[in-house]
Amino acid sequence: MDFLPKEINDYCVLYTQKEDEVLYQLHRETHQKILRPRMLSGHLQGQLLTFFSKMIEPEYILEIGTYTGYSAICLARGLKSGGELHTIDINEELEDFACSFIRKAGLEDCIQMHIGNALQVIPSLEKTWDLVFIDADKENYINYYNAVFNSVKKGGFIIFDNVLWSGKVTQEVAPKDKETKTLIDLAKLLQEDERIENVLLPVRDGLFMVRKK
Ligand code: SAH
Ligand code: CA
Repeated sequence: MDFLPKEINDYCVLYTQKEDEVLYQLHRETHQKILRPRMLSGHLQGQLLTFFSKMIEPEYILEIGTYTGYSAICLARGLKSGGELHTIDINEELEDFACSFIRKAGLEDCIQMHIGNALQVIPSLEKTWDLVFIDADKENYINYYNAVFNSVKKGGFIIFDNVLWSGKVTQEVAPKDKETKTLIDLAKLLQEDERIENVLLPVRDGLFMVRKK
């Protein structure tokens, strides 16, 4: 579902810096070869993630949900020199594809991909994060928040993707699916959490931005 009228979205894309060749090919090949290509962040959101990352200048980034590596590449472009992005995906079939594009982007020295269930991998990464991007299975979003919170730096950021869930979070009937229910519970929990500042951006499928005080 698109929240914006098509002509407005097209206008925004028209005046957003063009995707470079690597991201363009990654987008194309994901659509040709990989299941569920709609999960890829895409041009507008990808460029926004690069901007956020360049503004934050993180030393350590954690991404939960690599898929084909589009958002990892966008985020890694804002890393401080010598910084690292760690990205986790449970689907081992994505590893060769994602890593080949990470190499094409020249980011193989700063992006490390971990294959496994994120809730198991997170505690093994002994880092303090400046920026965390949460984009894996939605029913675990609250678990991911709790799992990373203590290892986020003071003043660090957590960004959750797809928090509007195609608009399902606003439907009037009580949601039956676990994903929608968890996303609504997460929004309420973040709004009440006094350890953070928060803003929900209606970009693409919804980006929830959290800053740890
Ligand atoms: N961040 C990517 C898209 C991620 S799609 C982008 O913007 O381009 C969501 C990914 O989460 C999928 O690749 C899926 O395999 C992964 N995933 C789902 N459950 C997971 C889990 N428990 N642990 C780690 N990754 C998981
Ligand atoms: Ca997503």
